[in-house]
Amino acid sequence: MSSKLTGYRKEILNIISGSTVPLTVRDIYDKMQNKPDYSTVYRAMDYFVKKHNVKHITFCDNVKLYFRKSGKNAHFLHCTSCHKTIQVDKCFVGQEEKNISEKYDFKINDHFLYFMGICSECRSI
Ligand SMILES: [Zn+2]
Ligand SMILES: [Zn+2]
Repeated sequence: MSSKLTGYRKEILNIISGSTVPLTVRDIYDKMQNKPDYSTVYRAMDYFVKKHNVKHITFCDNVKLYFRKSGKNAHFLHCTSCHKTIQVDKCFVGQEEKNISEKYDFKINDHFLYFMGICSECRSI
């Protein structure tokens, strides 16, 4: 792997790790200091999904949003009006997960959870 590619990947991973919200490929590209080929960013994302615990989530607008998974699971609020996504850093389903696990005799390893609605900015328009 060329050192240039390694440099791009480092920068991309830093951007994802430093973000409190999930990012689209376009968001990531816009934040990069040295712009590679757009396809380089796409390929880097595939690589990170395999190797670096980067996950993606897609809402009804069909755009992939990437984020680095730090804890066990991930929780989001998604505004269906402006498509802003907020990552909630608190897990509030621990006990419920246990109940579901017992009821369905299913060993749960992980969960993604998202709530759709309208953010405060959109409601004030
Ligand atoms: Zn909104
Ligand atoms: Zn949770």
